[in-house]
Amino acid sequence: MRKIEKIRHSLAHILAYAVQKLYPGAKFGIGPAIENGFYYDFELPRKINQEELPKIEETMRKLIEEGIVFKKKIIKKEEAEKIFKDQHYKLELIKEIEGESVSIYESGEFIDLCAGPHVKSTKEINPEAFKLVKIAGAYWRGDEKNPMLTRIYGIAFETKEELEDYLKKEAEAEKRDHRVLGQRLELFLFDEEVGAGLPIWTPKGTILRKIIQDYLYEELKNTGYFWIITPHIGNSNLWKTSGHWELYRENMYSPIKIDEEEYLIKPMNCPFHVKIFKSKIRSYKDLPIKYAELGTVYRYERSGTLHGLTRVRGFTQDDAHIFCTPDQLSVEVEKLLKHGIKILKTFGFKEFNIYLATKPEKFAGTEKMWKKAMNVLKYALNKQKLNYQVDPGGGVFYGPKIDIKIKDCLGREWQCTTIQVDFNLPERFDLNFIDKKGKKQRVIMIHRALLGSIERFVGVLIEHYGGALPLWLSPEQIWIVPVATRHLKYAKEIKESLQLSGFRVQLKDEKETVSKKIREGEIQKIPYILVVGDKEEKSRSVRVRERKKGDIGEMKIEKLIEKLKIENKV
Ligand SMILES: [Zn+2]
Ligand SMILES: [Zn+2]
Repeated sequence: MRKIEKIRHSLAHILAYAVQKLYPGAKFGIGPAIENGFYYDFELPRKINQEELPKIEETMRKLIEEGIVFKKKIIKKEEAEKIFKDQHYKLELIKEIEGESVSIYESGEFIDLCAGPHVKSTKEINPEAFKLVKIAGAYWRGDEKNPMLTRIYGIAFETKEELEDYLKKEAEAEKRDHRVLGQRLELFLFDEEVGAGLPIWTPKGTILRKIIQDYLYEELKNTGYFWIITPHIGNSNLWKTSGHWELYRENMYSPIKIDEEEYLIKPMNCPFHVKIFKSKIRSYKDLPIKYAELGTVYRYERSGTLHGLTRVRGFTQDDAHIFCTPDQLSVEVEKLLKHGIKILKTFGFKEFNIYLATKPEKFAGTEKMWKKAMNVLKYALNKQKLNYQVDPGGGVFYGPKIDIKIKDCLGREWQCTTIQVDFNLPERFDLNFIDKKGKKQRVIMIHRALLGSIERFVGVLIEHYGGALPLWLSPEQIWIVPVATRHLKYAKEIKESLQLSGFRVQLKDEKETVSKKIREGEIQKIPYILVVGDKEEKSRSVRVRERKKGDIGEMKIEKLIEKLKIENKV
């Protein structure tokens, strides 16, 4: 175990020790090290809140400075049961441990049931490099039927600098939280009455989606895709043939009965695309055939895992399926890699991590097919000179895949592009093409999404840009603020000429002060705010405020349009 993990886990014990001192009668659950820190679950004699954390922290600091030694002992179970006779959670754990004896750790007056390892003494812990950050409710052993315990979270590092770095990054991430910004910028909302994990897109959010969709529409149309539209529900027989009913059911919603038949809400678009492919006899000359759809799918996600737009129950994939001959697979995968990266770069992402996921334990197809497809994927990655990491066993059951994850401005990874080879559906639906010799051959199918889902991608965009979307993606690009009512006519003229040039413009003619409107525009992260008064009207110009830069001076309207057109180019 790494030293930092030992420190974090040891701090969990020290936290419990402090709680034992401050809240006599507390019952102890478990206290593991986690990413960046630790937690401990308690049943406390009374409810506590965030304000009490500094006091607990102080007590911990004093204990650390005492240089408490962690002593491991192996004892008989009966003896342990005596030590923990008032700790029913520990007694429950002791019962489940195999064998005759258990291991305990003594640190000062606190004893815990624990396998370790720990630091030798708290002298190895920097008292300035940890912090208690959060109190949350957590069911004992994560089971809703069990009592709710109080979980105290801490973060911990080896040095004070690392802790400060981490806190700074967290604060920055919090400022960029798309759930907060999405509300403030009026892009989308969630509503309890509508249901968890089901985003509603407001007018501004819908414009943003439309911009992304229009861009994809043109981009794909020009690269040999056919756009299609398929239903949101399908007969259960379809999902039985596709294998979803058998292998994916825990992610699907309960069937709907229509005319004595059962229908299922689609968790994926694939079977519908397959049907279009199968509706005709296909010759090798027709291949590859590429169907694209902005397909809205619904999948069950546990309520605890839902998170803003990045984890939802209903979302729209920028989905496509490519049907090709075995010989074409390599070229098609190469094209997809190139295309995926090009599109992600257009949205302003510069760094990518690429993963090649290999065969999982349960798989469709033969070893030979997998090996061949893996070689094709590797070949395509190498040919594009792309560095990648292997994700062993991370493939989907139906075939190997390549995932491209983007790195945002805070260095966080987000899954976007996925390219998946499928040996399964062509078998299940008996998908063929007629080869050069006039013989039937099994077609190869590739599933791919470039952005992933529109919802998650919008969430990532908001966080990456902190809400200040590039001009071409901003739902409202320009606000015009007239100084007084007498400038309204001129302001309208300006608005029209900007609209004629294709910009999204709002005229802010509400009865508010100019400074208030400017402040509001800054909060809304509007890229350009144009102020027009007597002087501007006289010289047929505008006073330009650029986002982040502030007032950049007066500009003739023609010159401004020229500047904006350059910036607005995709
Ligand atoms: Zn321990
Ligand atoms: Zn698919």
